[in-house]
Amino acid sequence: MRIPLHETLTDEEGLLLKTARSVARVFGRSYWLEKWRRREPPDELWEEMRRQGLTGVGVPERYGGSGFGLRGAVLTQEALALEGLPVLQFLVTHFSRHIVLSAGTEEQIRRFVTPTCTEGRRMSFALTEPEAGSNTWRISTLARRDGDGYVITGQKVFISGARESDYMLLVARTKRYDEVGDKRYGISLFVLETSDPGIRMEPLDIDMKGPEWQYAVYLDSVRASSDQLIGREGEGYRTLFEGLNVERLMIAAISVGLGDFALSKAVEYAKTRRVFDVPIGSHQGLQFPMARAFAHLEAARSMVYAAAALHDRSGKGLELANAAKLLASEAGLEALDVAMQAFGGYAFELGTDLITLYPILRLFKTAPVTNELILGYIGTHVLGLPKSY
Ligand SMILES: Cc1cc2nc3c(=O)[nH]c(=O)nc-3n(C[C@H](O)[C@H](O)[C@H](O)COP(=O)(O)OP(=O)(O)OC[C@H]3O[C@@H](n4cnc5c(N)ncnc54)[C@H](O)[C@@H]3O)c2cc1C
Repeated sequence: MRIPLHETLTDEEGLLLKTARSVARVFGRSYWLEKWRRREPPDELWEEMRRQGLTGVGVPERYGGSGFGLRGAVLTQEALALEGLPVLQFLVTHFSRHIVLSAGTEEQIRRFVTPTCTEGRRMSFALTEPEAGSNTWRISTLARRDGDGYVITGQKVFISGARESDYMLLVARTKRYDEVGDKRYGISLFVLETSDPGIRMEPLDIDMKGPEWQYAVYLDSVRASSDQLIGREGEGYRTLFEGLNVERLMIAAISVGLGDFALSKAVEYAKTRRVFDVPIGSHQGLQFPMARAFAHLEAARSMVYAAAALHDRSGKGLELANAAKLLASEAGLEALDVAMQAFGGYAFELGTDLITLYPILRLFKTAPVTNELILGYIGTHVLGLPKSY
């Protein structure tokens, strides 16, 4: 299916999109589903991405990356999804290292970011805790000062790719919630090596119908030196929120890419499947929802591109990134729903590979931040309405 908005890309961006799509096409959905069934991580895909310079997209060349900024990272993520590969590892690695790029020292960037570009290292992101939920300020994982380093104890949940990662960007408190006047203070960011003593991971029983998994992570007196602290102690919230902005756009890019993947399948099917003597695509009851889904995908995509461009230019754009994530998560799911309707009963066969897209597309209404929290942000911070919580 042609995506007219791609015609607005620069020549370089267009080439990046083409390269990432052709890498993804070599592997394709059959590889992704086979890896899921065998419960193996998609290491071959990651290695090919590294060989083609794709793991370094979004990181400046001077640190071993391939440049392109957030727009490039978003395009890479979208290109993979357009071929049916919603690669969470790229998203999580990229926005976690973005936090290190924003607030880390030169030495930290070379130590933790460069290997993610050149050596295929991966980084996971550990924020969510069972008790705190969406209320980030309420996290209780504690990093206590000890000599010139820290001792960290706590628990995280839903951490994507934790076991498959080399590093973990950990959000902890260096001051407890009830010790600070302003709840934002006391949040600190660390990069841990996932092999550090005291870190234990347990796979969760979550089925995204893909070869990437979530873990509960237990931290029991994990030692971190002060050169693993990113930015200033207790002031991590600023950098964290900027990083989450990046995460929202990367998620939005998967959503529109995968939405198109689903819609394209349905469009091809609707041209050939004949019921009542004509192709089902000629029935407006099916054609119009497809056309509407297409328009919604393009609208969400254009907002993702614009928000990424704004972020690259000014480091700002939380309002747009939130709106883009909201619209993209809805548009992706709408496209899948319309596609499933076109396939009739066959949509429910595993082999059609549509029902298999549902968990991941539905996830984006909930993670990395729920759409209710996004609406709350827009309502209070953008529109200036009173806060309800
Ligand atoms: C597959 C998967 C992968 C994930 N990967 C990661 C990861 O890599 N790293 C990580 O740190 N986390 C990860 N998460 C966690 C994810 O970010 C959280 O699940 C999400 O932020 C919601 O938190 P919660 O599940 O605790 O829901 P809760 O906070 O308990 O919310 C439950 C419901 O209540 C609603 N609600 C809560 N407060 C309000 C309010 N004030 N107004 C209106 N509605 C409200 C929410 O919108 C939601 O619908 C992942 C989750 C999943 C399922």
